[in-house]
Amino acid sequence: MEMENRQKEKKGKVWLAGAGPGDGALLTLKTARLMEQADVIVYDALISAEILSRIPETKEVIYVGKHAGNHPVPQEEINRILVREAKKGKHVLRLKGGDPFVFGRGGEELESLLQEKIPFEIVPGVTSAAAVPAYAGIPVTHRDYASSFHVITGHARKGGKVELDFPALVRLDGTLVFLMGLSSMEFLLNGLTEAGMDPDMPAAVLENGTSAGQRRVTATVTTLKEASDRAGIKTPAIIVVGKVCALSSRMHWAEDRVLGGRQFLVTRPRQSSSSLASRLRDLGAQVIEMPAIRTEPICPNERLKKALETFGMHAAQEWLVFTSPAGADIFFDQLMELGMDLRSLLVRRAEVRIAAIGSGTAAVPEKRGLIPDLVPQVYSAAALGEALAETAAEGSHVTVARAEKGSEELIPPLLSAGLSVEDVPLYRTVYETHPFLREQIREMLESGKIDAVTFTSASTVRGFTGAVKDADYTKIRAVCIGEQTAAEAAKHGMRIQVSEQASMDAMVGKIVELFGKNR
Ligand code: SAH
Repeated sequence: MEMENRQKEKKGKVWLAGAGPGDGALLTLKTARLMEQADVIVYDALISAEILSRIPETKEVIYVGKHAGNHPVPQEEINRILVREAKKGKHVLRLKGGDPFVFGRGGEELESLLQEKIPFEIVPGVTSAAAVPAYAGIPVTHRDYASSFHVITGHARKGGKVELDFPALVRLDGTLVFLMGLSSMEFLLNGLTEAGMDPDMPAAVLENGTSAGQRRVTATVTTLKEASDRAGIKTPAIIVVGKVCALSSRMHWAEDRVLGGRQFLVTRPRQSSSSLASRLRDLGAQVIEMPAIRTEPICPNERLKKALETFGMHAAQEWLVFTSPAGADIFFDQLMELGMDLRSLLVRRAEVRIAAIGSGTAAVPEKRGLIPDLVPQVYSAAALGEALAETAAEGSHVTVARAEKGSEELIPPLLSAGLSVEDVPLYRTVYETHPFLREQIREMLESGKIDAVTFTSASTVRGFTGAVKDADYTKIRAVCIGEQTAAEAAKHGMRIQVSEQASMDAMVGKIVELFGKNR
């Protein structure tokens, strides 16, 4: 009973928001925030995987787009879903491609919210009508060529013909932008020329604009249909008619960026923000971030507590070893948790040394004023073990602070060198991905829409193969940090490329070398 009352107290509300035309960077700040805050997200087919990958995996999502070969969810059904969810007291984000009021049937959804007195807000989005031409180097207006632009639907209502006043459109003498016009292209273009438009008027068809897969075909209003068919242009696409279309041959830019036209899947632990993803985006790539793994600290951690209590009391030289940024972070968090000051470890008998597997891991203690004494040249557990075995003073004690089930290659070289080793598990790795994204990602991988997948550890490979099951992994190009990560990817038949250095620079460098354009 009380539960029921509480449900009623929270007022449901719907945000009708645009997600833009595809490029994740064209999402508005408000929509991005709502994606974090909403209780449930209702989205349709035009939302890119790059954008969907921002949805936290705990979030409830309802897909109302077309399923492969199936019909779309009827509009009345979508209206009902919005009303139903809002009445449960939920904050509902209705996420639409482009702008919600530009041929988004947003008005119809609002009618049913009004009828049920459900509060709402509208969040405009970047519409494909302007953004897709912009990414193709077509300014929809231009002082010399077009003083207006007009957005027109090319979609016929229920079986009928598209009803358009072609003479009126021609008289406008502005840029004409047709949405949903691909299947009626011939009818549209003929209509224009028959109504007196110059048969040599420039025209363009733009597929999948703003995304990595964007394609552009320019011709004239007379020849566009044939050129489009020859290029095999598919939906979503817009048709642009007007003198400004001729500018794209000089003003195109998006696909010319170093990684323009490329799409990557970046797997990473959920907690770490991905500087790799933003670096790749800066170079023009589209990036789907797939948080394949989540790290879960072991807490309370009795073994760590014991290890810390006796640290610096075993030998004349003692090493503290970090094998991942997450592990190092958790180590310092646990010190705080235990109320231990770093000085209490350093005043002990031993001379304290620190080792890190790579520069990313080294950065964590460095931020706390501890500069590692040893970072091996090559990023691998084996290389770290060997380097440490060589560097450490005879009889040293080594405390390894790392993941549960860490690499088996680190410890043996240390033991053979006669060092005493304490392996302290700090966290475990939990594999996860949004279930609703898995299918889409698999389809994209198999159809070659994703150029490469990046892996920064063997556990990200395991997380990925655990999430995207039964895919044809041999189609995947894997760019890996370190031999061990590469070996794990190779096990699944992926085509591997290895960045020897464990730095973002090296990784980005490798990707540019493999996929970049020489300019
Ligand atoms: N509300 C959306 C339009 C929805 S109608 C907006 O403001 O952009 C769907 C049509 O939009 C598609 O048939 C296509 O013509 C166009 N469209 C949407 N995204 C597109 C894209 N990335 N590239 C090309 N056309 C796109």
